[in-house]
Amino acid sequence: MSGDPAEAMARLDARIAGCRRCPRLVAWREQVAREKRAAYADEDYWARPVPGFGPADARILVVGLAPAAHGANRTGRMFTGDRSGDWLFASLHRVGLANQPESVARDDGMVLHDLRMAAPVRCAPPANKPTPQERSTCAPWLDRELAILAPSLRVVVALGAIGWQASLDALDRAGWTVPRPRPRFGHGVEAGLARSAPSGRATRGQDVTLLGSFHPSPHNTFTGRLTEQMTDEVFRRAGQMAREGP
Ligand code: SF4
Repeated sequence: MSGDPAEAMARLDARIAGCRRCPRLVAWREQVAREKRAAYADEDYWARPVPGFGPADARILVVGLAPAAHGANRTGRMFTGDRSGDWLFASLHRVGLANQPESVARDDGMVLHDLRMAAPVRCAPPANKPTPQERSTCAPWLDRELAILAPSLRVVVALGAIGWQASLDALDRAGWTVPRPRPRFGHGVEAGLARSAPSGRATRGQDVTLLGSFHPSPHNTFTGRLTEQMTDEVFRRAGQMAREGP
């Protein structure tokens, strides 16, 4: 990938936002936007695919699952406007990776430091469950995002087991060597991925550490399976590896 990464990422973001490749998800994201949740009845929903958020030369990439119907599908920004995002941005602020703790709208002034967020599926799926075909149809967008990030990337934080698998798949396709057997997901688990020798695929970039975190969904945070301290430890560690290496 050559040229200015910010310009390349802006072009990619615009292309993603116009994608209509998955008929079921296009119908769902637009239906949700018409029907709305009562609390947001006066808002215009985004109702399109949600591009990544954060600098195009970030050393840390956070990979979630998919936009929430009344969260990012409403606001148009990753993790913005739902409880998972509230938890996540508050932690990023506590550890110095975000300039403010609250993320409520695309124009709220949020700035991420050295960190970008993306999802393997860019449209809100019914019941938060994309089909395998939808995951595979959307995967090339994450591949293109990784190609732009590759020269700076040091750490990928995967939120949940699906984010972990999607990250391994995308890193493998992008030219990193995934250990065999494949590392298993767990909170705080780290897996080192070496940059492959030149083989016709992209060769820029360096070794990357994949770092697992339980997803900050209400299911995990309300039950105490994931605490603020556990989230902060993951992102503090990500920041440390980004600066100093593993
Ligand atoms: S999920 Fe991905 S591939 Fe499918 S319509 Fe949305 S952006 Fe396009």
